[in-house]
Amino acid sequence: MTVVSLENVTFAYAEQPAVKDVSLTVDEGDFLGLVGPNGSGKTTLLHLMLGLHSPDSGSIELFGEPVAAFDEGERIGYVSQQATSRGGSMPVTVREAVTMGRFAHAGHGRLTDADRATVDDALETVGIADLADRQVNQLSGGQRQRAYIARALASEADLLALDEPTVGVDAESRDAFYQLLESLNASGITIILIEHDIGVVTDRANRIACINTELYHHSDTESFVESDALTEAYGATGQVLHHHH
Ligand code: ADP
Ligand code: MG
Repeated sequence: MTVVSLENVTFAYAEQPAVKDVSLTVDEGDFLGLVGPNGSGKTTLLHLMLGLHSPDSGSIELFGEPVAAFDEGERIGYVSQQATSRGGSMPVTVREAVTMGRFAHAGHGRLTDADRATVDDALETVGIADLADRQVNQLSGGQRQRAYIARALASEADLLALDEPTVGVDAESRDAFYQLLESLNASGITIILIEHDIGVVTDRANRIACINTELYHHSDTESFVESDALTEAYGATGQVLHHHH
């Protein structure tokens, strides 16, 4: 099954397109790494995929439906860029925030014991059960990002879309976080990950899309590593990030 499909998608904020003539598909079970230099249109492309921007031309489908008509938001867990930074979030506890992810499944806003158990399971899976009663705005970046994932799990999301989710997160938590993503992917959840560290992406993703306004490369990870896509896409700006093992 195709989870996301873009055909000849172009989008501009002003005159210059931020995304130009991009066609690509994400299949069920994929772990897609979306890479490209700063300002290359990664966030814009993800917003287009999720229906947060409408394309100027081209077409976009989400779970086989035109994205403009798609109304099953609970199937998507989205961690936006800078979601891990402090401030701006509502004064709710972790459990409350994760429980919100469950409301789409609860009839008439009433949570059953099974719904509450699903919330507990989600907290357990991402390793923050002990933080359930803490305020979300008191969490560290890494803990907060886990809370967002738990909310997506509680809503039984089929697709997780993450925009540079580990910015500001320490190296150890980052590693654990990417292991969590890998195991969620192994359990069948489709993942789209924007990440500036190319090494992380080639270690974890099974497919890579490399963009710089236009799509430079879209393939399985092995072909990407063997290709010139990085040099081509980053060439103009020369800011390739090297992985530190
Ligand atoms: P990336 O996520 O790869 O860093 P973005 O998608 O954020 O790239 O940005 C792509 C281009 O679009 C950049 O030139 C950026 O300056 C521009 N851009 C992004 N958001 C806006 C906006 N809200 N209004 C105008 N231009 C924008
Ligand atoms: Mg971005």
